[in-house]
Amino acid sequence: MLTKILDIVFPPQCLSCDSMVTAQGTMCQTCWQQVHFITPPFCRCCGLPFDFAMGEDALCAECIQQLPTFAQGRAALRYNEHSKGLVLKLKYADQTQLAATYGPWLARAGAELVAMSDVIIPVPLHYWRFVGRRYNQSALLAYALHKQCALPVIPDALIRLRHTAPQTGLSRRARYDNVKGAFRTNPRHSEELKGKIILLIDDVMTTSATASQCSKALLAAGAMQVNVLTLARATA
Ligand SMILES: [Zn+2]
Ligand SMILES: [Zn+2]
Repeated sequence: MLTKILDIVFPPQCLSCDSMVTAQGTMCQTCWQQVHFITPPFCRCCGLPFDFAMGEDALCAECIQQLPTFAQGRAALRYNEHSKGLVLKLKYADQTQLAATYGPWLARAGAELVAMSDVIIPVPLHYWRFVGRRYNQSALLAYALHKQCALPVIPDALIRLRHTAPQTGLSRRARYDNVKGAFRTNPRHSEELKGKIILLIDDVMTTSATASQCSKALLAAGAMQVNVLTLARATA
């Protein structure tokens, strides 16, 4: 009943553009067609999608050069002009709506990782904080996934030690330097991390730099393994 009234007052809009749709948390047909869900083939380690099949054990150029500190990375969507809006939506969509839409996407893309993990940990507040946002979009995604799989979430297991510049526009080397040593674990949760397989959650993975630094901190605190699941993955 309330939903019906709200739908009249605030007609449901496409998650990606502003056109009207039949239900909250869905996309119009045009936007659906433009969103690229990541499917194999991809790098067996970081999950970077490949344009051509390269064999089941193939690694991407970045992973060949240096393996990340996390074991496996997976993402639901390719980060591009079309999915950008969906990621930015984390700024203004309400949490229930996001959980209903993004939770299943994450659960599907990360099914293998979810099955082996003990606990979900979000990447702490992001470069986007400088725009003045006070909440953590990675934590929203962590809880969205939690609703799908019931793995526990420790929202403050990682602490960001310093402001880092936005990763956008930086060279690969500069991205690593930018986030190097930027994270540590929260001593309050150290017992809960020991020997655990952790599923690290972020909104976008550009290079594996941020995830690698978070993972390094978690492993140093005694975690057994860290895997990474993101809503979107930059491919260029
Ligand atoms: Zn649309
Ligand atoms: Zn890779």
